[in-house]
Amino acid sequence: MLKKIQSLIFLGRFFILHLFKRVFFVLKKDSSATFLNHYAGDHIFALSQDDKKLLMTASACYACKLCDNVCPKANDAQHNLPSFVVLSQSRLLTDLHRSPNDCPEGCHQCDLACPVQIPIRSLIDWIKDHQNIASISSQ
Ligand code: SF4
Ligand code: SF4
Repeated sequence: MLKKIQSLIFLGRFFILHLFKRVFFVLKKDSSATFLNHYAGDHIFALSQDDKKLLMTASACYACKLCDNVCPKANDAQHNLPSFVVLSQSRLLTDLHRSPNDCPEGCHQCDLACPVQIPIRSLIDWIKDHQNIASISSQ
Protein backbone atom coordinates (compact mmCIF):
# COMPACT_ATOMS: atom_id res chain seq x y z
CA MET A 1 0.00 0.00 0.00
CA LEU A 2 2.80 2.37 0.97
CA LYS A 3 4.60 1.65 -2.32
CA LYS A 4 1.43 2.41 -4.23
CA ILE A 5 1.08 5.79 -2.51
CA GLN A 6 4.76 6.55 -3.18
CA SER A 7 4.30 5.70 -6.86
CA LEU A 8 1.22 7.91 -7.13
CA ILE A 9 3.04 10.84 -5.51
CA PHE A 10 5.99 10.29 -7.82
CA LEU A 11 3.77 10.20 -10.93
CA GLY A 12 1.70 13.17 -9.75
CA ARG A 13 4.83 15.25 -9.27
CA PHE A 14 5.99 14.59 -12.84
CA PHE A 15 2.51 15.21 -14.19
CA ILE A 16 2.40 18.68 -12.57
CA LEU A 17 5.95 19.43 -13.74
CA HIS A 18 4.93 18.41 -17.24
CA LEU A 19 1.95 20.79 -17.16
CA PHE A 20 4.18 23.67 -16.02
CA LYS A 21 6.63 22.93 -18.82
CA ARG A 22 3.86 22.94 -21.42
CA VAL A 23 2.59 26.32 -20.24
CA PHE A 24 6.12 27.72 -20.09
CA PHE A 25 6.99 26.63 -23.68
CA VAL A 26 3.67 27.88 -25.09
CA LEU A 27 4.29 31.30 -23.57
CA LYS A 28 7.90 31.30 -24.73
CA LYS A 29 8.75 32.78 -28.14
CA ASP A 30 8.09 30.44 -31.09
CA SER A 31 10.98 28.00 -30.85
CA SER A 32 10.93 27.07 -34.56
CA ALA A 33 11.31 30.75 -35.50
CA THR A 34 14.21 31.03 -33.06
CA PHE A 35 15.82 27.94 -34.55
CA LEU A 36 15.44 29.18 -38.13
CA ASN A 37 16.71 32.62 -37.24
CA HIS A 38 19.74 31.07 -35.57
CA TYR A 39 20.65 29.12 -38.73
CA ALA A 40 19.69 31.78 -41.29
CA GLY A 41 23.36 32.73 -41.65
CA ASP A 42 24.08 29.15 -42.77
CA HIS A 43 21.29 29.42 -45.35
CA ILE A 44 19.11 26.88 -43.63
CA PHE A 45 15.46 27.81 -43.76
CA ALA A 46 12.02 26.24 -43.82
CA LEU A 47 10.98 24.47 -47.02
CA SER A 48 7.45 24.57 -48.35
CA GLN A 49 5.79 21.44 -49.75
CA ASP A 50 6.43 22.78 -53.28
CA ASP A 51 10.11 23.36 -52.45
CA LYS A 52 10.41 19.77 -51.23
CA LYS A 53 8.73 18.42 -54.36
CA LEU A 54 11.06 20.41 -56.59
CA LEU A 55 14.19 19.33 -54.70
CA MET A 56 13.11 15.70 -54.79
CA THR A 57 13.01 15.76 -58.61
CA ALA A 58 16.81 15.96 -58.56
CA SER A 59 17.05 12.50 -57.05
CA ALA A 60 16.10 10.98 -60.44
CA CYS A 61 19.40 12.14 -61.97
CA TYR A 62 21.67 9.34 -63.11
CA ALA A 63 24.56 11.57 -64.18
CA CYS A 64 24.33 11.05 -67.93
CA LYS A 65 25.58 14.67 -68.40
CA LEU A 66 23.44 15.22 -71.50
CA CYS A 67 22.37 18.53 -69.96
CA ASP A 68 26.02 19.69 -69.85
CA ASN A 69 26.48 18.94 -73.55
CA VAL A 70 23.76 21.38 -74.59
CA CYS A 71 24.41 24.16 -72.08
CA PRO A 72 25.48 27.35 -73.91
CA LYS A 73 27.41 28.45 -70.82
CA ALA A 74 29.28 25.19 -70.29
CA ASN A 75 32.64 26.85 -71.02
CA ASP A 76 32.02 29.71 -68.60
CA ALA A 77 34.16 29.03 -65.52
CA GLN A 78 31.76 31.06 -63.33
CA HIS A 79 28.83 28.89 -64.36
CA ASN A 80 27.99 25.67 -62.53
CA LEU A 81 27.27 22.92 -65.02
CA PRO A 82 23.60 21.90 -64.90
CA SER A 83 24.48 18.34 -63.89
CA PHE A 84 26.57 19.73 -61.03
CA VAL A 85 23.59 21.71 -59.76
CA VAL A 86 21.35 18.66 -59.89
CA LEU A 87 23.88 16.22 -58.45
CA SER A 88 24.66 18.67 -55.63
CA GLN A 89 21.01 18.80 -54.62
CA SER A 90 21.81 18.01 -51.01
CA ARG A 91 24.06 21.11 -50.89
CA LEU A 92 21.61 23.51 -52.52
CA LEU A 93 20.64 25.22 -49.31
CA THR A 94 24.03 25.62 -47.77
CA ASP A 95 26.53 25.99 -50.62
CA LEU A 96 25.15 26.68 -54.08
CA HIS A 97 23.68 30.06 -53.11
CA ARG A 98 27.26 31.34 -53.20
CA SER A 99 27.47 30.91 -56.96
CA PRO A 100 24.03 31.02 -58.52
CA ASN A 101 24.05 30.49 -62.26
CA ASP A 102 23.38 33.44 -64.49
CA CYS A 103 21.36 31.65 -67.17
CA PRO A 104 20.18 33.49 -70.28
CA GLU A 105 16.53 34.57 -70.24
CA GLY A 106 14.30 31.82 -71.58
CA CYS A 107 17.02 29.18 -71.86
CA HIS A 108 15.74 25.68 -71.13
CA GLN A 109 18.25 23.65 -73.12
CA CYS A 110 19.15 21.51 -70.14
CA ASP A 111 15.50 20.77 -69.36
CA LEU A 112 14.89 19.68 -72.95
CA ALA A 113 17.95 17.40 -72.98
CA CYS A 114 17.24 15.63 -69.70
CA PRO A 115 15.93 12.10 -70.37
CA VAL A 116 14.18 11.96 -66.99
CA GLN A 117 12.62 15.44 -67.23
CA ILE A 118 14.28 17.00 -64.22
CA PRO A 119 13.28 20.71 -64.13
CA ILE A 120 16.90 21.88 -64.00
CA ARG A 121 16.21 25.52 -64.84
CA SER A 122 13.60 25.63 -62.08
CA LEU A 123 16.16 24.29 -59.62
CA ILE A 124 18.65 26.96 -60.72
CA ASP A 125 16.02 29.69 -60.38
CA TRP A 126 15.01 28.30 -56.99
CA ILE A 127 18.59 28.69 -55.76
CA LYS A 128 18.64 32.32 -56.89
CA ASP A 129 15.29 33.08 -55.28
CA HIS A 130 16.31 31.50 -52.00
CA GLN A 131 19.68 33.17 -51.98
CA ASN A 132 17.78 36.42 -51.54
CA ILE A 133 15.45 35.00 -48.88
CA ALA A 134 18.35 33.60 -46.88
CA SER A 135 20.40 36.80 -47.02
CA ILE A 136 17.36 38.88 -46.02
CA SER A 137 16.52 36.63 -43.08
CA SER A 138 20.13 36.63 -41.83
CA GLN A 139 20.25 40.44 -41.57
S1 SF4 B 1 19.18 27.05 -68.39
FE1 SF4 B 1 20.40 25.16 -68.39
S2 SF4 B 1 21.24 25.02 -70.47
FE2 SF4 B 1 20.54 27.13 -70.19
S3 SF4 B 1 22.35 28.22 -69.49
FE3 SF4 B 1 21.23 27.60 -67.68
S4 SF4 B 1 22.17 25.62 -67.10
FE4 SF4 B 1 22.77 26.04 -69.20
S1 SF4 C 1 20.46 15.22 -68.26
FE1 SF4 C 1 19.16 14.85 -66.44
S2 SF4 C 1 19.76 12.80 -65.74
FE2 SF4 C 1 21.37 13.51 -67.15
S3 SF4 C 1 22.92 14.47 -65.79
FE3 SF4 C 1 21.54 16.10 -66.50
S4 SF4 C 1 20.01 16.23 -64.86
FE4 SF4 C 1 21.02 14.26 -64.60
